[in-house]
Amino acid sequence: MKAIEIYKSVNSYISSNYSFLGLNKKREIERLVFEIFKKYKKIDFSILPKYINYEQFKRQLIKMRYPISYKYYPLKSFFLGKLDLDDDEIWKEDEFFEVDVVVEKNSNFIDIVDRLSKIYKIKSLNVVDSVKNVIKESTKNFNYNYRKRKFYILDEKFDFIKSCPCTSNCISCGYFIINLGFGCPFDCEYCYLSGYQNVDGIIINTNIYDYLKKIREMKVSSLLRVGSGEFTDSLVYDNITNHSSKIINFFRNLDGIVFEFKTKSDVIDNILNEKPCENVVISYSINPQYICSEFEHGCTTYKKRLECLEKLVKCGWKVAVHFDPIIYLDNWKKLYRECISDLFSFISAKDIRWISAGTLRFYPHTKKIIEKRFPDSILLDFEMVIDFDGKLRYPFLIRKEIYNFIIENIKKYNFPLDKFYLCMENSKMWKEISLSPSFKW
Ligand code: SF4
Repeated sequence: MKAIEIYKSVNSYISSNYSFLGLNKKREIERLVFEIFKKYKKIDFSILPKYINYEQFKRQLIKMRYPISYKYYPLKSFFLGKLDLDDDEIWKEDEFFEVDVVVEKNSNFIDIVDRLSKIYKIKSLNVVDSVKNVIKESTKNFNYNYRKRKFYILDEKFDFIKSCPCTSNCISCGYFIINLGFGCPFDCEYCYLSGYQNVDGIIINTNIYDYLKKIREMKVSSLLRVGSGEFTDSLVYDNITNHSSKIINFFRNLDGIVFEFKTKSDVIDNILNEKPCENVVISYSINPQYICSEFEHGCTTYKKRLECLEKLVKCGWKVAVHFDPIIYLDNWKKLYRECISDLFSFISAKDIRWISAGTLRFYPHTKKIIEKRFPDSILLDFEMVIDFDGKLRYPFLIRKEIYNFIIENIKKYNFPLDKFYLCMENSKMWKEISLSPSFKW
């Protein structure tokens, strides 16, 4: 049964049977009942508890929806925001071949536009004084699903390098980020960009040497890690920008800083054409095959990611792996056990500079966007509660079980735990799983 049908049926039932409730109370109940029916794939109003008073009714529904977390988390941890499904906002594969391109007159756009034109048909090319002014105007009411049809090409003027904002109350891994662009063409269902991006196209910054100059000026007292995969995939547009070659050759001669390309793409030709160097690492986000094909739309397939890792290692590159976000499904143990086994059948522990793990997480407003874009997905069916940093996460005990399981499995392949870290987790979790935050990049 489609989620939208469940939604309509629940909406009509609540309106007629609980008409005495105020708007906000009706919305809370509507969400809980919808999520219960969706999770169990069945509409059955007879299972609802008897209404005596609102607080008791709500508590009983929360207990049905969150049987594990209900025991450990206060009521305010359960997200009960308005449910808002709309047929028009459902994600569909965007088969596009033509793109609009807006370039800033003073940027080095010529080569980039030339390479873009070899991949897409350019429908329009506008040269403007300031791309930021154009973005401001054209971004009103944009549809996130169509962002790939437009490119903005410009020079970044201020925002060159910054410390990763991580998340509040977390142990930070000391990462620094450079944003060489903004926007990603992939459609991972869980992607925080779907709730964050406020630009109606993909931004590509051309002035790579200004970024590298800023990095050179940094005062480095201990080994730093810098990466470019926060607001976009580090490599997906590398065949258009060619940034990777310049980055590699810059870092090759720089002590004290490790650079990380973080990707789910197979655009590694420029890297393979360079001589490997110790302080440049190419990392892949890996999930089990089922999860890649079910939730990571448009990304390079599971097998291809493993093959890319293997190819990079064979050519002498150092690689890293992120199990992130780890997604809880009924058979998650089997899926992740197989995934780890596959990983170590393609490459060996000694070739991996680090492995990170992080479970699914996002802010509550992103949950509403995921529901709208992927209403029938099972991604959100398991329990997620508002946790220490205001993000929705799996309950603590489940996360702990997941991390212990990942650790136990990577240890089987002799992967050293001083090269393993948790992404965006608090100190309580590190302590519980007996990990010490002593990163060795
Ligand atoms: S690859 Fe990363 S940035 Fe791109 S859609 Fe997936 S999660 Fe988002």
